Amino acid sequence: MDFSVPQERKLVTAIPGPNSVALQERRVASVSRGAGTLANIYMDHGSGAILVDVDGNQLIDLGCGIGVTTIGHAHPEVAAAAAAQASKLTHTLFTVTPYENYVRVAEKLAEVTPGDFEKHSILVNSGAEAVENAVKIARRFTGRRVIVSLDHAFHGRTNLTMAMTYRPWPERAGMGPFPGDLFSVPTSYPFRDGLSGEEAAARTIDYIETHIGASEVAAFFAEPIQGDGGIVIPAPGYFAAIKRFCEENGILFVADEIQAGIARTGAWYSIEHHGGVIPDLVTSAKGIAGGFPLAAVTGRADVMDAVQPGGIGGTFGGNPVSTAAALAVFEIIERDGLLAEAQRVERTILGRIGDWPERFGVVGEVRGKGAMIGVELVKPGTRDPNPAALTAILTHATTNGVIALDAGSWDSVLRFLPSVVISDALIDDAMGVLEEGLATL
Ligand SMILES: *Cc1c(COP(=O)(O)O)cnc(C)c1O
Repeated sequence: MDFSVPQERKLVTAIPGPNSVALQERRVASVSRGAGTLANIYMDHGSGAILVDVDGNQLIDLGCGIGVTTIGHAHPEVAAAAAAQASKLTHTLFTVTPYENYVRVAEKLAEVTPGDFEKHSILVNSGAEAVENAVKIARRFTGRRVIVSLDHAFHGRTNLTMAMTYRPWPERAGMGPFPGDLFSVPTSYPFRDGLSGEEAAARTIDYIETHIGASEVAAFFAEPIQGDGGIVIPAPGYFAAIKRFCEENGILFVADEIQAGIARTGAWYSIEHHGGVIPDLVTSAKGIAGGFPLAAVTGRADVMDAVQPGGIGGTFGGNPVSTAAALAVFEIIERDGLLAEAQRVERTILGRIGDWPERFGVVGEVRGKGAMIGVELVKPGTRDPNPAALTAILTHATTNGVIALDAGSWDSVLRFLPSVVISDALIDDAMGVLEEGLATL
């Protein structure tokens, strides 16, 4: 594909440059500090895997705004689809007078989500809103109230989803009261617990049975690959055992695929890496519309239709422009073979950095699927989390033109969520920068 910006890192000022510094001063004077930022580098435009800042520096983007621009920045076909729709019709509210784009996105989601049964969708604006709707739908269908989520989970920042999110800081501190009937249960974290999938599932199930009661539980929410939790991939067999337990106990299994979904891991949905487990409901958001706000809950038609008309929805959900963008994204993923590109990114990154645990004492493990990779940093010779090393590496990376992300309940996982169109050469260059950072520790 043709990129409007050459796919190379190029620094023309110190980072952040003078224009970023000036914007940062205005930002401090006008924007809530609660909207914390990873790096105060102000961006002007982007293409593919390169972001260009307001000082003209070209940075390699290994973050994609937390896994959103999976198909690359400002994809020209997505831009054209959105622009064409914006000059035709920008809003009617689907629940007042509907339009075709919404139906087409729902049809496409039914096709690409796991399972061959009849599936229905609801479209909303954000990931958190999708999770909230999945909670409402699951409660309505089952007539039960309890929602279970996993340790190290991230499900959003609204009051309900914040309470389903694992760590107290920074997401939850001082913001209660929180809704009740939400429980966080032990998960499978192979690097830290050393358990097999079956053993970890037995621990999860025992916790539910002894602390909650299986017959109280409406739904079990899980990210098949945890994103903010630190690219944690439960051991093989974990989700199969959990799904069996859910089926035996009338519990819905909800896959939160907001970060890992839509092609990022080399499959449409990351639950596909867990051996044929089929969720009852799936949430999609982040990468689904190339940067436009759109999210969805998709799942079993009988579950999705348990809600009375008017029970779910919202003013902007499934907006005509966002859905036009999403339809372009689906087409690009299929036409350009982007599932295979995500697999290539995995091979290239793991081929390049798979030996980091042997080479660098602070690297405990390198793991991931597709363009979703985590590097767990530890204190040398231990498995103790090393957040100071992460801070040092991220600072080295940004000042040298590489945007990478943090993750993990102990802020000690270096996270890569690059576009799947990132070239092997850019990956090599970015990993070289990170190696320099690791070598200085
Ligand atoms: C980002 C994220 C959310 C929340 O999505 P927002 O669009 O930020 O509300 C929920 N679940 C997962 C797994 C996420 O990564």
